[in-house]
Amino acid sequence: MSESRKQRSAADSGLIARVRAAARQEQFLEVVSAEEARARFVRHLDLAPLPAESVALADVRTRVLAGDVVAAVDAPPFDRSNVDGFAVRAADTWGASDGNPKTLTLNEEVIACGHVPVVTVTPGTCTAIATGGVIPRGADAVVMIEQTELVEENQPRIELRRAANSGQFVSYAGSDIARGETLLRHGMRMGAREIGMLAACGLDRVDVVRRPKVGVLSTGDELVEPGRPLPPAGVYDSNGAIIAAAVAEAGGEPLMLGAYPDDAEVLEKAVRKALDASDMVMLSGGTSKGAGDLSHRVVSQLGKPGILVHGVALKPGKPLCLAVVGNKPIVVLPGFPTSAIFTFYAFVAPVIRARAGLPPEAVGTVSARVPLRVASELGRKEFVLVSLVEGEDGTIAFPTGKGSGAVTSFSQADGFFEIDALASALDAESQVEVTLIGSAAHAPDVVIMGSHDVALDVVVGALADRGFSARTLAVGSLGGVAAATRGECDIAPVHLIDPASGQYNKHLAGPGLSLVPGWRRMQGILFRPGDARFEGRSAQEALKIILADSSALMVNRNAGAGTRVLIDKLLDGARPAGYANQPKSHNAVAAAVAQGRADWGLAIAPVAKLYGLGFLPVSPEHYDFLVVDNRRGRPAVQAFLAALHDERTRERIRALGMEPSVEPSVEPSAT
Ligand code: AMP
Ligand code: MG
Repeated sequence: MSESRKQRSAADSGLIARVRAAARQEQFLEVVSAEEARARFVRHLDLAPLPAESVALADVRTRVLAGDVVAAVDAPPFDRSNVDGFAVRAADTWGASDGNPKTLTLNEEVIACGHVPVVTVTPGTCTAIATGGVIPRGADAVVMIEQTELVEENQPRIELRRAANSGQFVSYAGSDIARGETLLRHGMRMGAREIGMLAACGLDRVDVVRRPKVGVLSTGDELVEPGRPLPPAGVYDSNGAIIAAAVAEAGGEPLMLGAYPDDAEVLEKAVRKALDASDMVMLSGGTSKGAGDLSHRVVSQLGKPGILVHGVALKPGKPLCLAVVGNKPIVVLPGFPTSAIFTFYAFVAPVIRARAGLPPEAVGTVSARVPLRVASELGRKEFVLVSLVEGEDGTIAFPTGKGSGAVTSFSQADGFFEIDALASALDAESQVEVTLIGSAAHAPDVVIMGSHDVALDVVVGALADRGFSARTLAVGSLGGVAAATRGECDIAPVHLIDPASGQYNKHLAGPGLSLVPGWRRMQGILFRPGDARFEGRSAQEALKIILADSSALMVNRNAGAGTRVLIDKLLDGARPAGYANQPKSHNAVAAAVAQGRADWGLAIAPVAKLYGLGFLPVSPEHYDFLVVDNRRGRPAVQAFLAALHDERTRERIRALGMEPSVEPSVEPSAT
């Protein structure tokens, strides 16, 4: 064997060993239920609030009170006038009327704010007093200046034509805050209103619970700090930011320690340092079974009691790893962002809240109907994230459906429901209890379900400027038609070609649904600039070349997409290499071509521009709106249509490379 061949085969066997290692599934030793996982974790934790520290009022916002605050003073501190006028003895005013005005002599004193009165109001006299002034001795009411006449000759006097009751326009000492009253209770989070109360009592500092310090580390060779350019195969570290923010929301003090490569030595050093500096450590990533996944191995070497749980029968979140070292919890959250944040809320946030002195979070639930069947893995309790929509006959929960790898499935969800570990699916039309997430967003003014387009964001933005909120759910054109037909949305954006007439969308209007024209998007062939098979040619010429070139790899679209209909028409029965690769969006097609995973595909012009790709126009596609007729009268739907037809919106749609339509709407009566 030649020297170079020997070397190559040695290198090959090294590679093969790595491939073997990567394929070897290091099974979870023991997968436990969520309840068991929580119980084991809690057994080793101190859940009492951390000790108190005294903090100046200026720094106390968002902090949690360590003890009850008892008012040491009254507010107001004295009986106070609520108006500009005259302090009087009410009895002197009794019987006053237009026919029988009463006259009171003015005392030689004017009570401004901050002035301590010296003259007693004796019968038949009064004293001028400003709003906020101290009620003088002898007086028990105030009359408004507007309801008096000043008589200036001789001794200055005032004339009254209306009687006053004792206590009129007076705020008594302690009526706002009474000395000895419990003003604020421990566990309350300080906001502007609470801080105002503390200041009104004269407090410049207050005892708050020390915030638990939580070290937050991300792991993965692929991770890149936000703000830096993304190299090929790189992924932005989103977990670090989202977990740090969630720690702060749960009352902790996050220490953002950054992302570390999959290197046991480097990681162990970083985790030990984090443990020294904080009360709790959060890692994310590297907890599955793959070759590079070593977070749990690092954690297992840090000390007793060590790993308590690794593997929870839960979806998302199976690879969760819960550990305690000394008295400090260390948690390895799954790498996928939605799994990470979901398990954080379920297992970690309650611990941080407890240490931070906050009560358990009150969770709201709402009953909702799930219109679709949802498949579920047997043996794992599954949490399904949903968007909530108000239907004709109650709340409807739509699974957000992007999966645990998506960052947006958690951030855009309104809540989640559970599918039991023993169920393999939830039947369509089931009624479920949805646990609301965060500040359970209020029901949107308008629900838009169907195909998504970047210019749609422009219209939704214009709608927001008009004061209406919209919920947009990207369910594809066909999904939009179904939702509009069932009355689950107000508006469905669609782009479906009628195979019979070759026309877009018109066939979708019918009883109860009208079609409002949106804009046209040019569809065409995407390619990398400089590729001679495409550059400078027409779409037809290019197509002829690539269909004869077996090395040309295409990227297709999913069945049901309007673009797919166009692709099949163009290919006219041909099945070039790559036809089976069927991503679900224009962006995915562009990314595949830009990154060299395919050589060409069909998408809309603005996307080609966004990815720096060449574009050969094929034909314009109509992106229109199906409007549910009995929802059309709603103010938000009217505002949407007005925004759509507004020249400023149209200008911004044009700037994105679309051509706003000028055709008339198709009303159901016309069909
Ligand atoms: P792992 O648990 O390390 O196998 O990662 C599972 C998936 O989560 C991979 O797609 C990772 O790229 C992704 N991932 C891991 N950590 C992060 C992070 N900090 N931010 C965003 N994605 C991550
Ligand atoms: Mg990883």
